[in-house]
Amino acid sequence: MRVKILGSGAGGGFPQWNCACPNCRSLRAGTFHGKARTQTQVAISADSRSWFLLGASPDLRSQIEATPELHPREQPAEKAPHDSPIDGVVLLNADIDHVLGLLLLRELQPLRVHATKSVRRILTKDNSMFAMLQRVPDQASWNEFMPGARFCLLSPTGKDSGLRCRALPLGSHFPAYVSAPRRSQLHPLESSLGLIVESPSGKRLAFMPAVPRIDKDVLKLLDSADLILFDGTFWTPDELVYMQGPGQSSWDMGHIPVSSPAGSLQKLAHLSHGRKIYIHINNTNPMLNEAGPEYRQVRDAGWEIAEDGWEFEL
Ligand SMILES: [Zn+2]
Repeated sequence: MRVKILGSGAGGGFPQWNCACPNCRSLRAGTFHGKARTQTQVAISADSRSWFLLGASPDLRSQIEATPELHPREQPAEKAPHDSPIDGVVLLNADIDHVLGLLLLRELQPLRVHATKSVRRILTKDNSMFAMLQRVPDQASWNEFMPGARFCLLSPTGKDSGLRCRALPLGSHFPAYVSAPRRSQLHPLESSLGLIVESPSGKRLAFMPAVPRIDKDVLKLLDSADLILFDGTFWTPDELVYMQGPGQSSWDMGHIPVSSPAGSLQKLAHLSHGRKIYIHINNTNPMLNEAGPEYRQVRDAGWEIAEDGWEFEL
């Protein structure tokens, strides 16, 4: 299985359009020791021909253009020149940063969308723009998966990709835009999930960009993974409060911080099997600065900090 990181930033990317935090200011001034990042997006493939997107970021258009493997294949002159290698998408929540890119894939492109029943209902019942994915019968086909149950990634025609998945419920909150009446009809365990993908060779990817807490189930899965892409959104619980004034902590927003005694560096210090990589990094996070002590601390602890364009083979 090939795993490509097309985007590694949190919602808003780095720099973020309305942000003048020290990181964003310094990056714009050209004095920052680190990289710009688009919003988190991962693509996987078992055969390098058929690709699946984990989420669909608002930056998807430029991320596809930056990734030759995802460019449409050339067609014979008599056929329409639309043959994208993107066969499907796996949605792990209904956050805008995680689903908006679906609307960019609406050009009558056959697509298999794997999602929980709750996420599908939010998008297709309450947000009429997503009807653009259903204009013709063979456009988007939805496969619902249950948290905890195994499922395989299928192409739009139903071909098995060879990739096996299992999604783990992590959070219990739906996005703020979901109405109260709709919320009452949804299952909280279907709101925010982490994903384990097993390759045909038996290697495992753990993709967990939003983790509110690390419990025994999460630890067990991470222990079995060969490649871990883990929530690196915030450095400290009060990072945004410190920057912007009173508001939500990282815990309130469903993200365990990297540092602090209850943070992921400490909680996952014993993991030794897989390659450990932070992804979904917010523009305010000081570990983005490769000249700073936070970056050093993360690297010394055996973690890497994802960059756009990285690729892995599992
Ligand atoms: Zn910023």
